[in-house]
Amino acid sequence: MPGERGQRRAAAARCPHHQDAAVPAHRAAGDPLRRKAVIRTSLRYHRPVTPEETSAILTEHSGDVVVLGGGTMLLPMMNRAEVNAGHIVDLRGLGLDKITVAGDNVRVGAMATYNDLLCSDLIAREVPLLRRMASGITGGNQLRNLATAGGSACYGNPSSDVPAVLVALEATMCLHSPAGERRVPSAEFFVDAFRTAVGAGEFLMSIEVPRRVIAAGYHKLKLCEGSWPIVTAAVVRHGGRAMATIGAATVTPRRFELTSYLDADKDTVDEYVRDNVGDPWSDVLADGNYRKDVSGAVVRRAVAELQEG
Ligand SMILES: Cc1cc2nc3c(=O)[nH]c(=O)nc-3n(C[C@H](O)[C@H](O)[C@H](O)COP(=O)(O)OP(=O)(O)OC[C@H]3O[C@@H](n4cnc5c(N)ncnc54)[C@H](O)[C@@H]3O)c2cc1C
Repeated sequence: MPGERGQRRAAAARCPHHQDAAVPAHRAAGDPLRRKAVIRTSLRYHRPVTPEETSAILTEHSGDVVVLGGGTMLLPMMNRAEVNAGHIVDLRGLGLDKITVAGDNVRVGAMATYNDLLCSDLIAREVPLLRRMASGITGGNQLRNLATAGGSACYGNPSSDVPAVLVALEATMCLHSPAGERRVPSAEFFVDAFRTAVGAGEFLMSIEVPRRVIAAGYHKLKLCEGSWPIVTAAVVRHGGRAMATIGAATVTPRRFELTSYLDADKDTVDEYVRDNVGDPWSDVLADGNYRKDVSGAVVRRAVAELQEG
């Protein structure tokens, strides 16, 4: 009588999109090749080809399933057993790596990598701030060839570049759920540190950014060349209005009006920005109070870049 594992193997053999990566621990221990495998738990690999199939798998295994983007964050966490799941859903069969025009928006597929953003003429022309952000991501070509802005958004690490830039651009996060498409404004997508609006059975399909003429400046403070950001600031001018969005200083991005402060003196800007930061975020990179103290200077640098054009 085949057990559950036997049934899963039989299903995997029937379906080309499902491969069983499960290896019993006692067999892995005795097999020199298997001993090198770093994810030690039993894991079933799914490669769906439609959004509906994807949401169905995510719903069926809710609580025991993870979505695989570029894997640059997820796979190391699984290797370290910080994330354990019985199922992994690879999105590469869905064709979500395209960057296209969709009416008044530029649509960035959830699997578009940082290098896709850097190589896209459409992004350079219509959303240069996204290009500017991607050019400053550390980790070299290996990282930029695999990692996606969508994966970074879904991870929701406060100390990263992507969330605040998406909020500054007033992007919309297009999720696929069992009920169909669900659109969430980026300002509501980032709920808390490492927590987003992505619910059970849902995954990110694309990010839509409005096509409109904006001028923007971006600056980030890092510990050293290779480090992740301590504070980021995007300043965007559209029409007669300038808005600042601060990232990494708080658990979720802070966006606020900057129009009447563009030419204000240093101390006035710094005090105003500090007030807008409110409760700061601390992690191993930097203490919250330090982040709060330097946020005014980071905004002023972004304003300088905006004004230099
Ligand atoms: C060496 C190095 C340097 C880095 N430097 C920077 C830096 O300078 N600035 C910065 O901001 N970040 C930096 N990062 C982080 C980097 O931006 C993220 O690792 C990357 O963007 C995550 O994308 P991914 O596609 O690899 O996601 P994955 O690792 O595949 O996934 C990350 C998380 O998001 C979920 N997920 C992924 N895609 C989806 C989806 N479509 N729908 C739902 N959930 C999804 C996964 O389940 C997982 O929880 C760096 C990382 C490394 C390893």
